[in-house]
Amino acid sequence: MEMQRISGVVADDDDKVIGYRKGCFISRPVGAVLIILFIIITTAVGLIIFFTHPNKVNGCEVCSCEVSRGLAATLSPEAQWEQCQKLAEDRGECACPSSPTTAMPPTTPPAATTPPRAEGGLRLNRTLIPSHYNIELKPYFYEGDDFGFDGSVEIHLTCEEKTNVIVLHINFITIHEETVKIHDAMGNELKLASWEEDKSRHFLKLHMAEDLNVSSEYVVKMSYNGTLIHPDWRGFYRSSYVKDNQTKWLVTTQFQRTHARKAFPCFDEPSFKATYSVTMVRKANYSSIGNMELLNTEDRGGGWHADVYKKSIKMSTYLVAFVVSDFTYKENTTSRGTYMRIWARPDQIDLVDYALEVSGAIMEFFEDYLDSKYPLNKTDQIAIPDFAAGAMENWGLVTYRLGRLLYDPNYSTMAQKRGIAEVIAHEFAHSWFGNLVTCDWWDDTWLNEGFARFFQYEAIERVHPTWRELQYAVRTLQFIMGKDGTGASQPIFVEGIEHHDDLLKAFDTITYNKGGSVIRMMKFILTAETFRKGLGKYVDKFAYGTTVHNDLYAVLEQQAKDDGMVRWDDSVTNFTGIMDTWIEQMGYPVVKVTVDQNTNMHLKQEHFLFDENDTLSYQSPFGSYIWDVPVIYTTEADPSQESAVWLYREQEKTQVIPAKNSQDWLLANIYEQGFFRVNYDAAGWGSLFAQLNNNHTVFSIENRAQIVDDALSLAKAGIVDEVSGLSATEYMGEEDEWLVWYPATQALTYIDLMLRDTVTYGLYQKYMLARLAIQYGRVGWDDSNIDEHMEKYQREVVLRHACRHRHKPCLDKASELFAQWMLDPSNNPISPNLRRLVYCNAIRNGGATEWEFAFNKYTEYNEAYIASELTYLRDGLVCTREPWIIKKHLDYALSIVSTSSVQLLAQNPVGYQIVWDYFSDNWYNIPGRDNVHVNRGSVLTTLTEGFNTEYHLNKLHDFIAAHPTNGYNATYTSLIERTEKNIKWMQKNKTPIENYLNTKTGGASAQQSASYMRIKEERAPRGELYGIEEEGDQFDNDNIEVNLGLLEL
Ligand SMILES: [Zn+2]
Repeated sequence: MEMQRISGVVADDDDKVIGYRKGCFISRPVGAVLIILFIIITTAVGLIIFFTHPNKVNGCEVCSCEVSRGLAATLSPEAQWEQCQKLAEDRGECACPSSPTTAMPPTTPPAATTPPRAEGGLRLNRTLIPSHYNIELKPYFYEGDDFGFDGSVEIHLTCEEKTNVIVLHINFITIHEETVKIHDAMGNELKLASWEEDKSRHFLKLHMAEDLNVSSEYVVKMSYNGTLIHPDWRGFYRSSYVKDNQTKWLVTTQFQRTHARKAFPCFDEPSFKATYSVTMVRKANYSSIGNMELLNTEDRGGGWHADVYKKSIKMSTYLVAFVVSDFTYKENTTSRGTYMRIWARPDQIDLVDYALEVSGAIMEFFEDYLDSKYPLNKTDQIAIPDFAAGAMENWGLVTYRLGRLLYDPNYSTMAQKRGIAEVIAHEFAHSWFGNLVTCDWWDDTWLNEGFARFFQYEAIERVHPTWRELQYAVRTLQFIMGKDGTGASQPIFVEGIEHHDDLLKAFDTITYNKGGSVIRMMKFILTAETFRKGLGKYVDKFAYGTTVHNDLYAVLEQQAKDDGMVRWDDSVTNFTGIMDTWIEQMGYPVVKVTVDQNTNMHLKQEHFLFDENDTLSYQSPFGSYIWDVPVIYTTEADPSQESAVWLYREQEKTQVIPAKNSQDWLLANIYEQGFFRVNYDAAGWGSLFAQLNNNHTVFSIENRAQIVDDALSLAKAGIVDEVSGLSATEYMGEEDEWLVWYPATQALTYIDLMLRDTVTYGLYQKYMLARLAIQYGRVGWDDSNIDEHMEKYQREVVLRHACRHRHKPCLDKASELFAQWMLDPSNNPISPNLRRLVYCNAIRNGGATEWEFAFNKYTEYNEAYIASELTYLRDGLVCTREPWIIKKHLDYALSIVSTSSVQLLAQNPVGYQIVWDYFSDNWYNIPGRDNVHVNRGSVLTTLTEGFNTEYHLNKLHDFIAAHPTNGYNATYTSLIERTEKNIKWMQKNKTPIENYLNTKTGGASAQQSASYMRIKEERAPRGELYGIEEEGDQFDNDNIEVNLGLLEL
């Protein structure tokens, strides 16, 4: 999960509202006293609820922490702890469970400790190959139980190489020594000489008295017990929900990537595929679910029943799953006969309707596309209250976080609805890419996750054609280009993955999002039909097996040859060679396209970096960073004509193009299919901007989004000047598409941040408002038409930014809608899509009454457990400008160790100073819980994100000098570097941008100047200049695409 973007607030006018204007009135002074007294009392109690609410959607009590090996080696224990907590925060978890004085926090119950990293390899060798497991489990999670379980396992294996030791994976289970038995195929027991447990490598080693024979089969049996208490929610673990003030327990699993070993001894690597026969022993009034259909249920007496499941198809251990709960389900059957059930707690079962509606259609899309029947007869899907990842593709039993599966028309946004369809599509894609055909090892995880990311868009295009597949370019490709444009990125194919900690790299956002983007480029290179047919053959050829990426390339290349679709110069390279440049290198190129007087087109590629001085964390295996780049372009002379030219690991190339004259525009990377940016010379950009201003619809929506994103990103990197970047947005008032506004507002974030505390911000705001006002008038506030999917996105982004830039009609409407709700609290008139922005703006511009109302609603929804409303209200409440309430927020956020909540407060202009002062005074004495504290480095990073003056730099140096801290040197250095970089940016760009904005706006209005000066004066006594903050990006927070980047799906 990605750390949630944080809501901020605007501080400007004085608070004027005491008591609600349209309600019954009492005298202002009396009202103020009564309200403040009431708030003091309710806040004291309420904030405890507010912050300690056991948010099972986004939160947790503790978490696991894994710091990558390379990083751990360079950090002090405390720094490791800080890093660990940051990772936890990034995943949306809350806090780590043990003291920073320990070297590494435990990943499971406090009684256990994480052993030091082992010397030697952690991979199993392939001397023994498992073929089948018989597993019986009996969890104890009923009233009075201690949350343990009993288990027994019988593993059938074949000896491939002579050995006298059997090595299995186990973790957090205790083997009953006397039960360990090894038999040969004839049933003869073999003598066990000794056994040992290598805890650091999760190995159970059974030393045999004699060698095992090559090609012979053996059976290993043992009984054991384990724990269901895994606070990291990984392994076989307990979960719960509260109904009628009673805690209801269930048990569930999350085995990817290395956690099946917590439930049963096994060969816990993806390439050891086997079959499984599972028996689950449960109490009679509960039910169980497994990967396969239930065969029968045995009465074991004493109220115990045993559910016996059909032998599974062949699969990896990480895909095994089981759940025992009191949940209920809804069902249907697809046209091809696949039985589908979706499970939820009984009082939420009606929220599965939408998921059930789309699941069948999504399943059928994959079956049609790949011409491959879903391999099982049934699929269960279930919403789990405590779930660390977003969802998990266990074969036949897909598990989800609540918000990823349950849709409530009264509270869910369109983005959440789309998110549900996309996650289901992502998980069903895994049935083929991941489950049926599995990456041989986690260094090729993109063969699972890249395809799942790619297909979640393709499937939705089928199920909801109006939702627009072309969101891929904006929501995934441009998003990951932003991440991949630094020296700290990593290749898609990550060599050297071995230790458990290294797996974080294998499941990095690059794996998902760049993996999917490169697959999308493959489709473009091969053409859609050749790509589709090739994938069908790939899943057929490697079904129930594993692959490396060359296996994929070989099948696709053969398909291209068969179809006559070899669209590259075979004498120069082949498909494998082309793809290697995209898989084995981090980053991507920027291709500069220039056209000379003779209409010769010159192409030149360079490694794109936002900061050319970045240290590169990986060296290119090709000597220098260079790619095989497919450049498709069109020209003004004939926009319908698309031409292609390749740059084959060569830096420059010249080609004659069919332009009428050298002033024509030329547009490259049509539909943004290729994973690279395009730069032009000044004339080239100028002709494109002129076309945008004259008639932007000549370009496709994707290309408009691409021009805006490329121009602003190249400006941020200093490759073109910032004025050129801004020029791409001049026409935006006429741009009706969210698919262009979204990347524009994302890419403008940096300029916005840098200008906030300058006089130029008034001009910038005027420039933005001139464009936003046109769209504001067009989209309006009526959000009731359910068919307007993309328009709802556009409405939200336009209203959010209009309100943020103080567009008065927007602010008035937000307050009006909130006031209507206050008058009739049982009837919320605000569209779920707009609630986040309305709540924040109404509370920010309101007073104690608005805050109190929102707070009471928070308490009410907390009891009813309406998660999305809790999120909107929580973010809205922090928009208050009441310093004493902010201080209370801060105290509680610190006490429950919520780094993200403190960051939220640090982005509130009023809260900023409170947080800064507090951390300055208490850097070494931050309160916490169980000796755990918020991540000071993350908070300081947020506090200093807008630092861009010499004053700021001195202030930062002073802070660092006053707070020397072990393990913080790297953080301090990076903050200084960031500030210096910002100062340089300001020196270079502020005046040109100001001149440009003056030209385009006619100068700042007197009202804006006055407003600005008042802000400065209000803040001056505090000695701080901090400005208007951005609200949380609703579609980032809710945007499944962005979130999925870091989720384990
Ligand atoms: Zn996935």
